[in-house]
Formats: sequence, C-alpha cells, structure tokens
Amino acid sequence: MSRDRDEAVRMKRMVDLLRSGATMLADVCPICNSPLFKLKSGDVYCPGCEKRVVFVKEGEDVAKTMQIQVIGELTSTASQKLMELTNMAKYESDVDRLYELGRCVLTWLEIFERVRKLQA
Ligand SMILES: [Zn+2]
Repeated sequence: MSRDRDEAVRMKRMVDLLRSGATMLADVCPICNSPLFKLKSGDVYCPGCEKRVVFVKEGEDVAKTMQIQVIGELTSTASQKLMELTNMAKYESDVDRLYELGRCVLTWLEIFERVRKLQA
C-alpha cells in the first residue's frame, strides 16, 4: 500500500520536473531504476532518490556511477561525523572518553582524506 503511495509521489515529482522544463532521459537511476531527468541547469536528477545524479557518459559502466555516488555520500557522512565528534569532544572532560573520541576523529579523518584522493 505504501509502495503505491511512493509510486504516486514519484510520479508527481516527475510531472513537476517536466513542468519546470526538465527533460526525461533514456537512462535510469542505477540505484532505484527510476528514469533520470535533465534539469534546465544541466544537472541530472533522480526523482526516486530525490537527489542529483552524477551523469555518466554512454559507454561508462553502471558500477562507475555507483562508485561516484558512494564516494559523494561518504564524503558528506565523513564531514558530518567529524563535526559531530568535534562537538562531542568540546564538552567532554573525561580523559578516557576524549581519547576514544580522538581515535574516532582520526579514523574519520583518514576516510575523508582517502575519499578525497579517490575523487582527485
Ligand atoms: Zn534513484
């Protein structure tokens, strides 16, 4: 039942996209299989995932698209976690907890750095 609702919501989003001047592409989203739309700005958008998709030129494989999206997701998660951990450390006075937080920060920082290198 909620699946039908999701579908209805997605259809409405697609209609709105078309109304706003976006064009429907022949490609589908590698994550949710929804048709992709090209916005007036040139960005490619997935109405299923409700996010911008890094568009892959024909010939490039789907795995690459997935990889780019995962990297994007990981970058934002890593920076968000670093922010949260920093805030936690700010108000922490227990030395053991601070040590734990510090190790955690280093781990996420390393993920962040590695992901940035992958993007370069
Ligand atoms: Zn999608």
